[in-house]
Amino acid sequence: MTAKNYRSPDYYLTDELFNDEQIMVRGAIRDWVNVSVIPIIDEANQKHEFPKHLVKELGELGVFGPFIPQEYGGAGMDQMSYGLIMQELERGDSAIRSMASVQSSLVMYPIYKFGTEEQRMKYLPKLATGEMMGAFGLTEPDHGSDPGSMITRITDKGDHYLLNGAKMWITNAPIADISVVWAKDDQGIVRGVIAEKGMKGFTAPEILRKWSLRASQTGELVFDNVKIPKENLLPDVKGLKGPLTCLSSARYGIAWGVIGAAMDCYDTALKYSLERKQFKKPIASFQLTQKKLAEMITEITKAQLLAWRLGTLQNEDRATPAQISLAKRNNVQMAVNIARESRQILGATGITGDFPMMRHMMNLESVITYEGTHEIHLLITGHDITEIAAFD
Ligand SMILES: Cc1cc2nc3c(=O)[nH]c(=O)nc-3n(C[C@H](O)[C@H](O)[C@H](O)COP(=O)(O)OP(=O)(O)OC[C@H]3O[C@@H](n4cnc5c(N)ncnc54)[C@H](O)[C@@H]3O)c2cc1C
Repeated sequence: MTAKNYRSPDYYLTDELFNDEQIMVRGAIRDWVNVSVIPIIDEANQKHEFPKHLVKELGELGVFGPFIPQEYGGAGMDQMSYGLIMQELERGDSAIRSMASVQSSLVMYPIYKFGTEEQRMKYLPKLATGEMMGAFGLTEPDHGSDPGSMITRITDKGDHYLLNGAKMWITNAPIADISVVWAKDDQGIVRGVIAEKGMKGFTAPEILRKWSLRASQTGELVFDNVKIPKENLLPDVKGLKGPLTCLSSARYGIAWGVIGAAMDCYDTALKYSLERKQFKKPIASFQLTQKKLAEMITEITKAQLLAWRLGTLQNEDRATPAQISLAKRNNVQMAVNIARESRQILGATGITGDFPMMRHMMNLESVITYEGTHEIHLLITGHDITEIAAFD
């Protein structure tokens, strides 16, 4: 219902800050979301089903690895376009954006940045089309915010490694053909390896009964003496810098993505408040409703400007991990608040699947937790400005 007459909020005329290509890319994804995501996404969430058929279409749209050079099958777009793509996908649903974020920033990006030429040629073109799906294994059952304490291990056996351990809460795990897995080597140094579906001893069970990201498949990655060929090691990075570099790219996409969810909630609430009458007047005429709407558009506008500036810095390769962290934290919190406030404007109707608020609200509970929790991002900013790490 929201898609037909969706009007993207742009209070500060930020559209003028984007070039023609960026606007075109955004328009293409926006149209696709209207046609292919909005009509099916409530049911997919209600049934806790991953809309598998969208993967091929996403590949055709160039949504997987949009910033990866064309020679490897990517679209060779800039970072601003990547951000706008994420924004439009998450207006549809955080699950769709999460799938695309993982594929692009957490699987294609490390293979491109830290992989061999053979690995790039073998995996990137297929990941770009969606012929192959990927997952990123960092979090473990007992090690979430503190991944440096991970216990998953690769043991050097001469012509191969043996991988042992388990990863938890992994987006795309049950559908992934390959997983970029972070594990400690014999020296205790974190390394990245590519584990392929079907390798003996490797299983990826789905985590069921989620109330959030119900249209996304989340799972475990379990490794029981899995033989990893030596050529599956990502050679060009050692230590936590590897996964953290990928997370910066993904967090950048999230900072944009959640604006889409917030814009959808705001637009829906604004329209509803103008139509719904109580006490013989539209509820939009009440000061308390106007306060909610005024605060929402203010926060969306601030988030849009933050994302645009971050995009500019990303394009110039100047955005720091701490700057990206700040935007992820601020924008996700903003979207969480707006989902809740906008739901209240719709009263009882707002709790149904006829409107997107509850779905966005539940999804955003994962988004505020994954890729670094809100608290950890506060500590990252705290560390950056005081030079004292509070989480060690
Ligand atoms: C749907 C979903 C998809 C996910 N996808 C992936 C994926 O694809 N790949 C992957 O590797 N991981 C993934 N994750 C895992 C996610 O990154 C972790 O859940 C997250 O890092 C937090 O870890 P935890 O859940 O173990 O919480 P914990 O680290 O146990 O934290 C619990 C609470 O304690 C707080 N806390 C922890 N340490 C501190 C501290 N020093 N100071 C103050 N507060 C603190 C946290 O902020 C949090 O509120 C996903 C999670 C979800 C929910």
